Amino acid sequence: MLAALAELDLPILRVVGEEATSHCFKHEERTGKADRHPSWACNTETGVFNCFSCGYRGSFVKLVSDVLDVDWDDAETWVRQRGGIERVNKILGRGQYLEDLLESQEVREYTEADLALYTLPPLEARRKRGLTKDACEKYGVLWDPERDMWITPIRDFTGKLLGWQEKNERHFKNRPYSVKKSQALFGFHVLPPGGTAIVVESPLDCPRIESVGVSGAVSSYGADISDIQMQMLFEHSELVIIARDNDRAGWKAAEAIKQRYRGMGRRIGFWNYTGSDAKDPGDQSGNEIRFGAGNYLSPLRVRFPK
Ligand SMILES: [Zn+2]
Repeated sequence: MLAALAELDLPILRVVGEEATSHCFKHEERTGKADRHPSWACNTETGVFNCFSCGYRGSFVKLVSDVLDVDWDDAETWVRQRGGIERVNKILGRGQYLEDLLESQEVREYTEADLALYTLPPLEARRKRGLTKDACEKYGVLWDPERDMWITPIRDFTGKLLGWQEKNERHFKNRPYSVKKSQALFGFHVLPPGGTAIVVESPLDCPRIESVGVSGAVSSYGADISDIQMQMLFEHSELVIIARDNDRAGWKAAEAIKQRYRGMGRRIGFWNYTGSDAKDPGDQSGNEIRFGAGNYLSPLRVRFPK
């Protein structure tokens, strides 16, 4: 059942007994306000769910139908394909997701000593992504030699370690699961004050940009940039260049930032993807990266595809 909920993209915040709790997915639609306290719970044995605040309740089939926006028959088929309500728990509940869930409830602190297990990324891995050794060292990018995974430490604005992300082609995970990335910027601790900051989405794009001779990249860990992240950047840097991914989510996020901070005038700019169809700066050639940063667009000039 927990795996089925994960498949529906409902982030389970906690499980107490048979109740899996999450933010109510219909709350905003029903009440006009997002569910700030997790008011929604699903019984992991029966699949029956209920929002204690707005009264959104029903059977698991109804939930599937609402979340996936499919009719009742298709929702029933979806549940049946997963072995039916009772069996979903037994069959799917034991996978990777359960591990994630247990991790999400862990309370242990991640310390610098944990990072001692990791090494500098090997030449072959660095070559594939076009990363120099110096750039990896500068950003503290590490490698798990046991599992062939990139390790990118997550630090708060003072440099204190909060956890890390681990990834390779098949696997991606935050440690701890619930690490607060909106209150951190990857690379902020090595960002020189008073210069230019370039805010990319993915941490590994920072050493990539550095590797072709452009300094100042930091990562917001995803398309959205929080108010705290922007505030820290404006306080620290003369110019903030927003480099969102060159895709729908990236354009949407960039447009929102443009609307919000257009009054900042010359202090904010946007990555220039002109002539490139790369999906993000990490995917670009050295020349494209230097062009994207060097010819950044002002809020007045930049246009994003709809
Ligand atoms: Zn609700």
